[in-house]
Amino acid sequence: MSCCLIDSHCHLDLGPLAGECDAAIREAGALGVGTFVVPGVHPDGWHGIATLADAYRAIRPAYGIHPMYADLVDEPLLSRLQEQAVRGVAIGEVGLDPGYPIPLEIQERALRGQIRVARAVDLPLLIHCRRSFQRLITILREEGAERVGGIMHGYSGSVEMAPQFIGLGFALSLSGSVTWNGGRKTARVAREVPLKHLVLETDAPDMTPQCHRGEWNRPAWIVETAEWVARLRGITGEELARTTSDTARRVLRLNNGEKT
Ligand SMILES: [Zn+2]
Repeated sequence: MSCCLIDSHCHLDLGPLAGECDAAIREAGALGVGTFVVPGVHPDGWHGIATLADAYRAIRPAYGIHPMYADLVDEPLLSRLQEQAVRGVAIGEVGLDPGYPIPLEIQERALRGQIRVARAVDLPLLIHCRRSFQRLITILREEGAERVGGIMHGYSGSVEMAPQFIGLGFALSLSGSVTWNGGRKTARVAREVPLKHLVLETDAPDMTPQCHRGEWNRPAWIVETAEWVARLRGITGEELARTTSDTARRVLRLNNGEKT
């Protein structure tokens, strides 16, 4: 696996990776990972992400408020996001997750507000969604999210739902969960969704691939996920890396505005 993998979602600014960013980028870089998309989770983290992106050519920042902090979202914060967003490649991560204690209607309001920001600044969305896919599709449609598209991060929806997201201009991102025992639903997505609509991510430090279970995840381990998916599809790791990276570049529009 030599060519140009893109980790479309990794939190190099968080937890055990904070302070280890240099080593993490070097380790992954040696395995062919050339680009790291670092999404925002909480507004207090945006400055740190911007600083990392200034320091490393390979880091592409995104800004947003994660559904677990949806109760922070109000009009002044959305204005701040809009100002910050123009320094990034996407708005995210945003979304819906009933596993958090924030009521879904508050999460939904935060999501709608951030989709409007994405449309205003014309940037794609990085979406976190668990167990609310039908509701999410309704919101994406109502808010015109297909104008910007984006990535369904760590996609845990079904193969059957995939065409609806693809139709709205979203690529589906696979993480280490595809390698887990019992990750059968995601393995079906990895096998059956047309390759050109798939991208890869680690979601490091979370979603550690099976073979490293129990450790904090790191961007280098995207290679484990890539090899696993290539095997599931019966294609070479090279082809998988090339196609998923092309797709990530297309949805995130990384070719326009190449970092200098
Ligand atoms: Zn994340």
